[in-house]
Amino acid sequence: MTASKSALDPLDLFDVRSELSDDECMVQDSVARFVDEQAIPVMREAFEQHRFPRELISQVAELGLLGSSIDGYGCAGLNSISYGLICQELERGDSGLRSFVSVQSSLVMFPIHAYGSEEQKQRWLPAMAKGEAIGCFGLTESQGGSDPSNMKTHAKKDGDDWILNGSKMWITNGTIADAAVVWATTDEGVKGFIVEKDMPGFTSQEIDNKFSLRASITAALFFDDVRIPAANVLPGVTGLKGPLSCLTQARYGITWGVIGAAQACLDEVIRYTGDRVLFNRPLSHTQAIQIRLADMARRITTAQLLSLQLGRLKDRGELHPTQVSLAKWNNCRAAIDIARDARDILGGSGISAEYVPIRHMLNLESVITYEGTETVHQLVVGQELTGVNAFG
Ligand SMILES: Cc1cc2nc3c(=O)[nH]c(=O)nc-3n(C[C@H](O)[C@H](O)[C@H](O)COP(=O)(O)OP(=O)(O)OC[C@H]3O[C@@H](n4cnc5c(N)ncnc54)[C@H](O)[C@@H]3O)c2cc1C
Repeated sequence: MTASKSALDPLDLFDVRSELSDDECMVQDSVARFVDEQAIPVMREAFEQHRFPRELISQVAELGLLGSSIDGYGCAGLNSISYGLICQELERGDSGLRSFVSVQSSLVMFPIHAYGSEEQKQRWLPAMAKGEAIGCFGLTESQGGSDPSNMKTHAKKDGDDWILNGSKMWITNGTIADAAVVWATTDEGVKGFIVEKDMPGFTSQEIDNKFSLRASITAALFFDDVRIPAANVLPGVTGLKGPLSCLTQARYGITWGVIGAAQACLDEVIRYTGDRVLFNRPLSHTQAIQIRLADMARRITTAQLLSLQLGRLKDRGELHPTQVSLAKWNNCRAAIDIARDARDILGGSGISAEYVPIRHMLNLESVITYEGTETVHQLVVGQELTGVNAFG
């Protein structure tokens, strides 16, 4: 019954930190400091008020967290492990904050950098890195996000311009975006269009009754005969591989991000069960609670090692989308189970926003759904194993 201090970090039992380079440690530490000192005090209130804390954008930009994997154009040029650590630390604060950075970096700046013209890159990337221009990514439509091949949004050529019609649903940053990267069918295949906020016929509407990701903006986008100049078409890609390649980048970051949410929950329950005395002893002294805490640590450790290896493969240019699917599925499932169990261990206090698990638990309901639901990722892995596409 005596308590002795562990020599291991309970949130990093396999010492993943020792695998990091000095530069990667520096990135992690500076983001962790920002999250502890600036973000966490704001995020809980923002979640309760159902508002995205725009006041954090300039600090996020100053730290070099927007488009951090891009080399040049005012971006930090960090490696994939660093990008993962950024996501992990931000999501330790709140999934909404990490979602903002993921969308701006992986879903907007990445396609402009990978598929955009030099003029598009010069115009948008430096401004987006500084947080002076905000982006959003429009792929999902109301008839089914899991099946993007059923896309109805369409662009038709009119002279040198394109005329865009349709709508997008569940779009992060939708109402605050200066530029929306919108994917639409054309006679030539799916293409990406940079739709600017003031273009006539483009409107957006916030979805304001969410019980998840309340500190993030989610919106519907509408396109009614929006005239898009040829200069706003992404010239470097045609077909669904365009948006899918962006999703691979963002999903990679999510695998790290959800570890942060899970760590925040474990940290909270270790503290809570040490203090909470029931039946004349702290909760943490009971076998049942220790098994539950140990199981959380096991899941976090597994998730950390998956993401670390994923990052190494990515930095070697050897990442396969199926590996990202497996890690997104595993790590989101681990994080949401940990958050739900942590909520339960807190008893009645677990439903209060004073403690982090319920906020993370509710946020993770979105994270396990967006960027490919759990089922979709399971089917991707199943297809890899069998060679059979079982989606239809
Ligand atoms: C908060 C939030 C933010 C988002 N941000 C963005 C964004 O910025 N940009 C963007 O483009 N999208 C965004 N999305 C959309 C998100 O990617 C979709 O919600 C997701 O892809 C699922 O699509 P859906 O909601 O239409 O569900 P559906 O595709 O209708 O799926 C419904 C259910 O069917 C299951 N299912 C699907 N296919 C199969 C199958 N073959 N067999 C068995 N079961 C199946 C799914 O797993 C799910 O349980 C966001 C969503 C949320 C909630």
